[in-house]
Amino acid sequence: MAEKKILTIGNPLLKKKSTAVTSLTPEIKKIIKDMTDTMYAANGCGLAAIQIGEPLRIILVDTSDKRDNLCVMINPKITKKEGEIVFTEGCLSVPGLEGDVIRYSKITVKGKDENFKDIEVTVEAYPAVAFQHEIDHLEGKLYIDQAIEGTTKSIDSKEKI
Ligand SMILES: [Zn+2]
Repeated sequence: MAEKKILTIGNPLLKKKSTAVTSLTPEIKKIIKDMTDTMYAANGCGLAAIQIGEPLRIILVDTSDKRDNLCVMINPKITKKEGEIVFTEGCLSVPGLEGDVIRYSKITVKGKDENFKDIEVTVEAYPAVAFQHEIDHLEGKLYIDQAIEGTTKSIDSKEKI
């Protein structure tokens, strides 16, 4: 286990744009492992590398109930988007809050998997929201800045992405 500290709102790194990963080095593999350990330890449904202080275009998403369906995506890019969904989001980097965000309801995302092989996924509803939320982190954007005015409120505990 190499659980890392998750950066929280106010840390300037969270506003930094992450850079593309060019090859799968041992360092990148270690970052992916650390991200995985950190996300599951925090009961998160997604994590971007910048949230553990690494400004690299790597995201994880696992929106399964059993926490056994991890998708690692390096250099993710949304290639198709359609529809609209309003979803109540939280974020491991914005503890204690949630808010409603308008997202695309169905997207196709292309990138590389943990073996640096090309992958493409098409996802709808909650997983689609999670991918968009994590990809926003790579652009230095937090959901809280896009939440519909008046919907942001405190929470005690909730699944966080
Ligand atoms: Zn987040």
